[in-house]
Amino acid sequence: MTLETLRLDDPRDDEVLVRIVGSGICHTDLAVRDQQLPTPMPVVLGHEGAGIVEAVGADVTHVKPGDRVLMSFNSCGTCPCCHDHAPTYCYNFFPHNFAGARADGSFTLHAGEEPVHGNFFGQSSFATYALATARNVVRVPDSAGAVPLERLAPLGCGMMTGAGAVLRSMKVQAGMPIAIFGAGAVGLAAVMAAKIAGADPIIAVDLHENRRALALELGATHALDGRDDPFGKIAALCPQGLAYAFDNTGLGSIIESAFNLLAPRGVLGIVGASDPTAMLTFNETAFMGGGRTVKGILGGDSDLFGFLPELIEHHLAGRFPYDRLIGVFPFEQINEAIEAGESGAVVKPVVVMG
Ligand SMILES: [Zn+2]
Ligand SMILES: [Zn+2]
Repeated sequence: MTLETLRLDDPRDDEVLVRIVGSGICHTDLAVRDQQLPTPMPVVLGHEGAGIVEAVGADVTHVKPGDRVLMSFNSCGTCPCCHDHAPTYCYNFFPHNFAGARADGSFTLHAGEEPVHGNFFGQSSFATYALATARNVVRVPDSAGAVPLERLAPLGCGMMTGAGAVLRSMKVQAGMPIAIFGAGAVGLAAVMAAKIAGADPIIAVDLHENRRALALELGATHALDGRDDPFGKIAALCPQGLAYAFDNTGLGSIIESAFNLLAPRGVLGIVGASDPTAMLTFNETAFMGGGRTVKGILGGDSDLFGFLPELIEHHLAGRFPYDRLIGVFPFEQINEAIEAGESGAVVKPVVVMG
């Protein structure tokens, strides 16, 4: 592999230049690498970056050089969802996060005179510097001054998605049963959030033994092997049905079986990336008759400026110990970090820039 130094634009009026300290690695980076998403190549990926503000454009007032910041997804700020504080459902999500350039089509990265795709999730954080926008840079509260930035980095996507799905999208109520299918980074964040919400029981299902063990340590009351009749066991544990089911596997057979376990007014939340051609089948009488809900969820319905500081507060109070999931690698070992994530040896790999 040959390394070459890329040139990054100066910040425009609404942009923020961030020196990256650490970046989480997420399934979406790998999906783009494998071209399951139509982001053009070559591209600098990375979308769970944290670092220190180096420079800001003239219109940026909420952060200043020297501030510790987290980056998350970008959004347009002008569509109906953005106006309604639901930026994860931005009508213009694709051009602001996956197009590999600014929404106006201009490039922020060049190799010599050749443009290189960047702006991935408004950041491209597998780099030493990132150009973000005022809309996707969140200042780390002073109360978290002792928390290293590389630990904060994964909050901006995977952790926010799992925790937000439980606390915001599904609004899980205390004393009600939840089952969480898939106990990777997103599923384990959901387990911790379900404990914060007071759900009971909290049932995690996963194929990996180490993840089931971690789920139990982080708040799950039961951890079931996905190969050993999990649906029958959940039905026995919750004879009245599940108030909440949360899928982050993206597998249709699991989603449909989870739906069949819902209690009346039960909510099934879906975040798993799936085959884009996949269809789901639900029984109409069960769906309508029980007032059940099937809810697609993106980014845990996070509004960055409210929810990320809230998660940091939960972490500082010991209620959201997501650092247990993190394995840190030097940036040069990004391929080893990805391998550790894909094999399941590390739940949430994070790379640290030298
Ligand atoms: Zn992600
Ligand atoms: Zn929008």
